[in-house]
Amino acid sequence: MGFLKRLFGGDSVEDRGMYFYVRCTACREPIRVRVDPMNDLSPVYEGDEDEETAYEVRKQLLGTRCYKLIEGYWRFDKRKRLIGSEIEGGNEITAAEYEAETAASVQQP
Ligand SMILES: [Zn+2]
Repeated sequence: MGFLKRLFGGDSVEDRGMYFYVRCTACREPIRVRVDPMNDLSPVYEGDEDEETAYEVRKQLLGTRCYKLIEGYWRFDKRKRLIGSEIEGGNEITAAEYEAETAASVQQP
């Protein structure tokens, strides 16, 4: 790791991950999903040209409270900006909702 860090000028420590938040439909557990834009995005080709037109990510998520598998699908434009998502077995929630609930469960009275 140290070698790679030197090789790329030392700024590889920065976390470039994107985070998404979903809630399990079955048990209402909030789950955080990390997507690495360098490794997790698959290019989507559309039309006749062999040109990258978009990116997509598919992730299977499993919470800790139940065994129901959640299938998440996120779609990005060619600049890797989020343009849409579909969650099967769960709903999307905001980072604020996730943090409020995970913080609350730690310091329960
Ligand atoms: Zn669950």
